[in-house]
Amino acid sequence: MTKILAWDCSPKVPSLIPFFLPFAGCPFRCLYCAQDLVTGQEHHDPLSLRFQRLHKELLQRRRPDRDPPQLAFYGGTFTALPLDAMNYCLEQAQHLLEQGLISALRCSTRPDALPDDRLLRLREAGMTTIELGIQSFDEGALRATERGYGSIKACEACTKVKDYGFELGVQLLPGMPGLSPGRFLKDVSHAISLGAGLLRFYPCQVLAKTKLAALWRKGLYSPWDLQTTLATLAVGYLKAQDAHVPVIRMGLAPEPSFLQARLAGPWHPSLGARVMARSLYLAVLRAKGRAKLVCLRLPRRLQGFFFGEKGEMRDKWARLACEILFGNVDRVELDLLETHKT
Ligand code: SF4
Repeated sequence: MTKILAWDCSPKVPSLIPFFLPFAGCPFRCLYCAQDLVTGQEHHDPLSLRFQRLHKELLQRRRPDRDPPQLAFYGGTFTALPLDAMNYCLEQAQHLLEQGLISALRCSTRPDALPDDRLLRLREAGMTTIELGIQSFDEGALRATERGYGSIKACEACTKVKDYGFELGVQLLPGMPGLSPGRFLKDVSHAISLGAGLLRFYPCQVLAKTKLAALWRKGLYSPWDLQTTLATLAVGYLKAQDAHVPVIRMGLAPEPSFLQARLAGPWHPSLGARVMARSLYLAVLRAKGRAKLVCLRLPRRLQGFFFGEKGEMRDKWARLACEILFGNVDRVELDLLETHKT
């Protein structure tokens, strides 16, 4: 019998052009956060100059055969920017939309910074997606990380974003203080149940000059190790796959300033691919059940991550003793032989 795996082989990852506003609008600097280092950008230039540069870049990137990217206001608390700065950003973005240089607008913000008038303004300006830096829905973890809001606020924020008609993105912080792998997996389920249309997993890093670095030095915080992170995110990714919710980013980009500032934490340049390799393996095991897997057919595009980093998944696949074929298929197909107990 042939079984089709419920696995999205080409998840929808939007093309984005980020416009970083590090710490802009943030009520305080969070325990673990170093947005200037993570984004590799400390923007001191006036907004007008930055939009001029963006305009030039978008003109250079324009291709007749490709959709324009979405403009993403990231790195701070967009909905808590001083009103004139927020309006200026939205007006500039609208010009870019009108010229067809961008296809949509999105922003990231805190769950406790969603006043109605700001949401209305975003909607009127054509914003389509709001990504909430939820980090966790777990009360203890939110308290330990001094996020400044609790679980109820985090849930209400997700509902509010949806109620206003935006697509909801949820950013989670596996490994944050007070969060166990089990609680993180509950967070993934929780975000999905609240209507998240996309997820991001950013394993918590210890970065220089943060409060978390001081706690780590005193032995009061230990990040998750890489293996725990890979294994846990693989289960989280599978939950998202089951719910048809794309995880559009796992782990931070290798910005030189971030790598320099990273003191500890589970980071790898191919973290996402390694997680997907594990997750696909789990999905196949689950679909196979007690049957014997004779042949696994996969779209060629999965070849890039299937065997994992330096073939780390080869032994696992070899133990299944099945034929593995990459070809012109759209879905993952399993040829199974039912084994009957006598
Ligand atoms: S609100 Fe977000 S961007 Fe601002 S300091 Fe906290 S984690 Fe960083």
